[in-house]
Amino acid sequence: MTEGPNQKFSTLAVHAGAAPDPTTGARATPIYQTSSYVFNDVDHAASLFNLEAFGNIYTRLMNPNSNVLEERITALEGGTAALTTASGHGAQLLVFHTLMEPGDEFIAAKQLYGGSLNQFGHSFKKFGWTAKFADIDDPASFQAQVTEKTKAIFVESIANPGGIVTDLKAISEIAKAAGVPLIVDNTLATPYLCQPKEHGADIIVHSMTKFLGGHGNSLGGVLVDCGTFDWMSSGKFKTLSTPCDSYHGMVLGEAFGPIALAIACRVLGLRDLGPCISPFNAFMIATGMETLPLRMKQHCSNALEVARFLANHEKVAWVNYAGLPDNAYHERAKTYCPRGAGSVFTFGLKGGYDAGVNLVNSVSLFSHLANVGDTRSLIIHPASTTHRQLADDDRAAAGAGDDVVRLSVGIEDALDIIQDLEENL
Ligand SMILES: *Cc1c(COP(=O)(O)O)cnc(C)c1O
Repeated sequence: MTEGPNQKFSTLAVHAGAAPDPTTGARATPIYQTSSYVFNDVDHAASLFNLEAFGNIYTRLMNPNSNVLEERITALEGGTAALTTASGHGAQLLVFHTLMEPGDEFIAAKQLYGGSLNQFGHSFKKFGWTAKFADIDDPASFQAQVTEKTKAIFVESIANPGGIVTDLKAISEIAKAAGVPLIVDNTLATPYLCQPKEHGADIIVHSMTKFLGGHGNSLGGVLVDCGTFDWMSSGKFKTLSTPCDSYHGMVLGEAFGPIALAIACRVLGLRDLGPCISPFNAFMIATGMETLPLRMKQHCSNALEVARFLANHEKVAWVNYAGLPDNAYHERAKTYCPRGAGSVFTFGLKGGYDAGVNLVNSVSLFSHLANVGDTRSLIIHPASTTHRQLADDDRAAAGAGDDVVRLSVGIEDALDIIQDLEENL
């Protein structure tokens, strides 16, 4: 069976983008471990290089394994096209490489994954791109940063690590009024929990390293073109609306309309910057995605049970999980993440820094490491690890105060997860 237009999420997660191998009949997509592909003849080669026909040329640009992933995530997010990359950060780089010129600005939430704060705030400066940061809980602070140089707004649907659920509708209205695309990092929610396109996203990015791959074994990233932004009538985005020197003057926005962003990220960004995913990683992540709905259900129900246990524990000062009814983001989570609030959240220990260090040192089922979205339960004490270089005040502002512990609750039995915490708190 192959996918049809009305299939439901769980069916698409298994089938979208994949079919039995035409040569061997292999049911699972084989790993196409090849750097390059033989042309039929010179005319065929010319039509591929001229973008007149789509087809495989060289694995930096495309590969059958990454193609499965691209079609699958496009179906799950309701987009028009997607492009996989070596990592989540690679996807972010390619999106901004397409949208920005030196001197341009974009506005990003200041409550983002720490790696994105570094990429935006430090490394992007070398390209002449300026990130201006705003407060996700105060949409007016995004509005206040809009200038004529603004080219995009970037937020996370569920923000890591604070467990913040973003008011996507409010932010998307600001992006629309400013005439710029809204980019949503949907890593922590996945399309199973949140559908950013329905709430006004124009571009979606993921670290597939996390819940999409889901097993903590492969790096990967993806960008999804929602097909909603009209690059030609905007005219603000030179790469998309003016003749492209490296394709004989082709105007990508005109030639490719609703998939122009994904095409430009591939045929310019990926071609020239090079962060392509390996066929093996694409195979691993496509396999992981088949069970995304099953895993997310278990992640969310386990996280809720663990959060309830912690909220009632005498040594715990507070729990920030949007799945709990008294949480500040609970109502928003019901709107944007109706199937659950994810499984990454923070809590505070009354015993402060030392209690945090003791807990991560003594747990046994939980793994002490810097990742999220694994089948296994993961724990980290940000103040002594990921955020230890920051000054005390900056740490607290980033949601990584001395007492904060972050969990990524896995899919083991909830009773065992809770027992590990109970014995070691
Ligand atoms: C991990 C992560 C990234 C970066 O992805 P990599 O695959 O590690 O490059 C971006 N955003 C969020 C929310 C993440 O958790």
